[in-house]
Amino acid sequence: MPLTQSREITAASRLENVRYAIRDLACVAAEVGKQGHTILPLNIGDPINFDFATPPHLIEAVYKAMKDGKNGYAPSSGIPGALEAIRAEASRKGITNIQDIFVTTGVSESVELCMTALLNPGEDLLTPSPDYPLYSAVLAKLDIPLNTYDLNEDDGWQPDLEDIKRKITARTRGIVLINPNNPTGAVCTRRMLEAIAELARRHSLVLFADEIYDKLILDDDEHISLAAVAPDVPVVTFGGLSKNYLAPGWRIGWTIVSGDASGLKPYVEGINKLLRARLCANHPEQYAIPAALNGAQDHLVEVRRKLHSRRDLTVNWCNSTPRVSCVSPKGAFYAYPRLDIPEGDDIFVKELLLQKHVLVVHGSGFGQRPGTKHFRIVFLPDEATLTKAYSNINDFMHKRYGNP
Ligand code: PLP
Repeated sequence: MPLTQSREITAASRLENVRYAIRDLACVAAEVGKQGHTILPLNIGDPINFDFATPPHLIEAVYKAMKDGKNGYAPSSGIPGALEAIRAEASRKGITNIQDIFVTTGVSESVELCMTALLNPGEDLLTPSPDYPLYSAVLAKLDIPLNTYDLNEDDGWQPDLEDIKRKITARTRGIVLINPNNPTGAVCTRRMLEAIAELARRHSLVLFADEIYDKLILDDDEHISLAAVAPDVPVVTFGGLSKNYLAPGWRIGWTIVSGDASGLKPYVEGINKLLRARLCANHPEQYAIPAALNGAQDHLVEVRRKLHSRRDLTVNWCNSTPRVSCVSPKGAFYAYPRLDIPEGDDIFVKELLLQKHVLVVHGSGFGQRPGTKHFRIVFLPDEATLTKAYSNINDFMHKRYGNP
C-alpha cells in the first residue's frame, strides 16, 4: 500500500500581519517561569491579576441569572434590561441620536463585527499609532491595509490632526479613536474631539470611539464622549465591563451607534446581520450590565485612588531615571515611556525579561514614530511590586548601558 505523505497544513497568508505582542511575549515569560523565576508582570491589562476584584453586586446578578435559568441563548442584540441600562448610560454621557445598541462578547467581538460590516477590499480605516493591537489584527484578518495616524508625544499623545488630514484618502471609511488611550494613557481634549468630528463630517467618515476606560480618569479631567460632541456624525462607541467594572473574563462589551438616522440605516442593518449570524453574547453575564451601570459605583473610588498613586510612582520613577522619560498618563492604567538606548526596544524588553524577570511590552509591538523607542508599563500591580520592578529595571539599564 502506498504511504500517504503527511502534508503541512499552511495557515492563511493573511495571518502574516496578525500580531499581538502583548500575548506573544507571554510565551517567552512562560519559559522563564518554568526555570523557577517569579515574573513581575507589568504587561497585561487585567486588573483581576492584582488587588482588584469584581464588585459583589455584579457577581450576585450573574449568579441569580444562572439560578433563574437564564442559561439559554439570548436575543442577538442583548437582553432588554441591559440595552435599557446602556441607553440610560449613553444619555448620562450626552450621547443622543442613538440608532442602535447591542451587547457583544467583549469590545473585541464588536470591533471585529463593526469593521467587517463596514470595509470592502481596497478601502481603509485610520487607526492610531501607537495602537491597541486588536485593531490592526482585525484589519489584517480582513485583508485591509493599515493606514495609521500618529499620536503626538510632544503634545501629550493627542492625535496629530495634520497627520490625520494627510492620511485621509478617497478609500478611507473611518477613524478609530481610543480615549482614554491604550498604550499611552492620554485623554482627549474637547477641542480635539470637535476637530476630529469636523473631519469626519467633511469627509463622510464613520468614527469609532473606543471608550472602554472612560470611568478610569485619574485627575480632575472629565471624560467627554466623542459621540456627545458630534450628534450628527456616525459614531460607533465601544464600552464594556472588562475595565471599569473589573470583569474582563466575563467577556461583555457593548456598542452604541449614533448619528443621523437616514445615512446609518444600511450599515446598522449590516451589523445586525452579523450579530444574528453569531447568535448572541454570553447570556447570564449580561445581567451584570444593569447591575453595573445602575448600581453603586463605590468600587471606582478605590480603583481610581490606587491607580492615581501607582501612576504617580511610575511617572516619578520614569522621570528620575536616566534614558527614560514619560508623558504622565491621565486615564486607564498604562504608561508609555520613551527610551534613549542604543538597541531596539524589543531587545530591551526580551533581555529585561530574561535577566531581571520584569515583563513589559516593547513599543514596536504597538507602533511608534521611526527612530523612537518605547515600552508599555501596566501600572496595575501594587506599590511594592512596582517599586521592585523599577529597581530591577534600574539595575538592568545601569549594567547594560552604563550612564548616559
Ligand atoms: N479596547 C481597548 C483599548 C483595550 O485596551 C482592550 C483590552 O485591553 C479592549 C478594547 C478589549 O476589550 P474587551 O475585554 O471588552 O474585549
